[in-house]
Amino acid sequence: MEMISALIVMGALCLSGGLALAWAARKFAGNENALVVQIEELLPQTQCAQCGYPGCKPYAEAIVAGEADINQCQPGGERVVKALGQLLGADYRPPAKVAEKPMVAFIREAECIGCTLCIKACPVDCIIGAPKQMHTVITADCTGCTLCIPPCPVNCIDMEMLPPRWQPERP
Ligand code: SF4
Ligand code: SF4
Ligand code: SF4
Repeated sequence: MEMISALIVMGALCLSGGLALAWAARKFAGNENALVVQIEELLPQTQCAQCGYPGCKPYAEAIVAGEADINQCQPGGERVVKALGQLLGADYRPPAKVAEKPMVAFIREAECIGCTLCIKACPVDCIIGAPKQMHTVITADCTGCTLCIPPCPVNCIDMEMLPPRWQPERP
């Protein structure tokens, strides 16, 4: 029974999201380029392709074409989903990968050499620290995008399950 309810809720969300995107497409008909620019301005510009598209602009174009949903940008997290929803009149839904498996970065602080490379890589500015000093992640703001991991020269960043109190809000 719970499974059926969940499927009904998900179906309703997809339908309302689809209707909103169709509405946005009609509203901006003939001016799709302007809408692409507006959407792109809300995206983190990491060009990381985690949305399934080769960069932020192709993802924006796919949203306008009705081919992509508003919750596919992992680095942008809830903030970007909400901003896109507001722009396009679409209902909120959790970022897709977070809904699947909420993860967050943790720095093993004793091993951190304070190089600041993770700070530069983080699209939501949720890592704090100063040069040559230990760094730490503001868990509540981390979107779980993993972009801080490759630049770390001492491999001291782990991805762990997000504690339940920080898991994204459900619609
Ligand atoms: S996942 Fe987000 S930040 Fe990365 S390319 Fe796609 S839109 Fe840009
Ligand atoms: S996973 Fe790393 S880069 Fe991504 S938001 Fe969290 S701390 Fe920032
Ligand atoms: S990249 Fe690694 S070593 Fe450098 S500051 Fe970040 S956690 Fe510390």
